[in-house]
Amino acid sequence: MVLADLGRKITSALRSLSNATIINEEVLNAMLKEVCTALLEADVNIKLVKQLRENVKSAIDLEEMASGLNKRKMIQHAVFKELVKLVDPGVKAWTPTKGKQNVIMFVGLQGSGKTTTCSKLAYYYQRKGWKTCLICADTFRAGAFDQLKQNATKARIPFYGSYTEMDPVIIASEGVEKFKNENFEIIIVDTSGRHKQEDSLFEEMLQVANAIQPDNIVYVMDASIGQACEAQAKAFKDKVDVASVIVTKLDGHAKGGGALSAVAATKSPIIFIGTGEHIDDFEPFKTQPFISKLLGMGDIEGLIDKVNELKLDDNEALIEKLKHGQFTLRDMYEQFQNIMKMGPFSQILGMIPGFGTDFMSKGNEQESMARLKKLMTIMDSMNDQELDSTDGAKVFSKQPGRIQRVARGSGVSTRDVQELLTQYTKFAQMVKKMGGIKGLFKGGDMSKNVSQSQMAKLNQQMAKMMDPRVLHHMGKY
Ligand code: GDP
Ligand code: MG
Repeated sequence: MVLADLGRKITSALRSLSNATIINEEVLNAMLKEVCTALLEADVNIKLVKQLRENVKSAIDLEEMASGLNKRKMIQHAVFKELVKLVDPGVKAWTPTKGKQNVIMFVGLQGSGKTTTCSKLAYYYQRKGWKTCLICADTFRAGAFDQLKQNATKARIPFYGSYTEMDPVIIASEGVEKFKNENFEIIIVDTSGRHKQEDSLFEEMLQVANAIQPDNIVYVMDASIGQACEAQAKAFKDKVDVASVIVTKLDGHAKGGGALSAVAATKSPIIFIGTGEHIDDFEPFKTQPFISKLLGMGDIEGLIDKVNELKLDDNEALIEKLKHGQFTLRDMYEQFQNIMKMGPFSQILGMIPGFGTDFMSKGNEQESMARLKKLMTIMDSMNDQELDSTDGAKVFSKQPGRIQRVARGSGVSTRDVQELLTQYTKFAQMVKKMGGIKGLFKGGDMSKNVSQSQMAKLNQQMAKMMDPRVLHHMGKY
């Protein structure tokens, strides 16, 4: 069962509380039954599910509780808390230190997704501004180096490997030494796997680990084996000093619930999850936001991280202008650039309350990006006067010749330009209301200076801004 289904089912079970006129034992039990059935269908271990039910029941005292609204909230909160517990390994995960040379070694069975995940992790840190590289120490699988090289080249990540050297210990050592000398901050070492947990694999793993002394050993776990994850994770942890786990293939029809709760049960901190074959299909794993997102409650923390990650150019000037009701075409261009920098739309959408993870399909995502790019191309043909006017649309309506010039310059029809201007007017109104993307998150930590109700308002505005209908309008050509 797909994780999104699980989220939907639990959300619907929780919603049944709001529909009930009174909350009594019967209603509570029915809701819990629904939640537990969904968890079992998602392959979560029956013992863990039972525990969850008992914990919720013991946390709730229906007699003691006051008004209906409060009851619902408390019950929903108790269920949420227990769901978090289910995927929380209760161990703080290792994180790299900026300015240091962090060596990260990957281990796991063949086909679990090591090479793919190495590239994803490298790409993730590179995007965040870390000096990142990849080393291929897999000499077991034919074509292993080519695979890593291809991924690394595509993402422009420096890499190291050899077609002739057969000793993984030598390659790993040479690569790490080279990149350490060049002051790389994130040095990721991919190793070979075997089809089974064999002694020879563990032997090789230990030798490589001893030679390069990694700061973090990441065990890559394929979610498709479901609850069996627990035994496998334990076996690897017993042999090498596994410090973190990345669970892959949580897209598709993986028994996601089983895998995540099984790994968590081994007290192994899950640091990321893989949700597809593409280099972007990768998300930091934090228990609470993960459950929020699963239940369609959004992942505000992740969204803030994303926005902070962008290191948007200081938007003070824009915010100042917006206060005076000014928003130019150039401002819109820059906002589009920010949206593009945020990465895949679907990931962003998934972080917004009310939007499911699978809200937008890949096809749509690429389409939206293409539309955005087209709009930017049109604006590329505008001159400074047009871009910087506080009423860009007016400049064009006063002198329609400008529309023809821009259309010709960007290879589109005049209608396209006109629609862009219409969209600009709408967008300007909306952005003025919300104060710009960075404005929302001014000062970095918004939880400190934003109240609960303001936060809710911001969420709403953010959701509006990312509203697919708005996106659709933006480039309806
Ligand atoms: P390795 O043998 O451990 O290095 O595994 P690979 O990185 O070569 O991956 C094996 C297969 O799993 C490849 O076809 C990958 O594209 C695929 N794969 C890896 N991670 C994911 C994921 O998160 N989702 C999906 N759907 N496929 C994945
Ligand atoms: Mg590999």
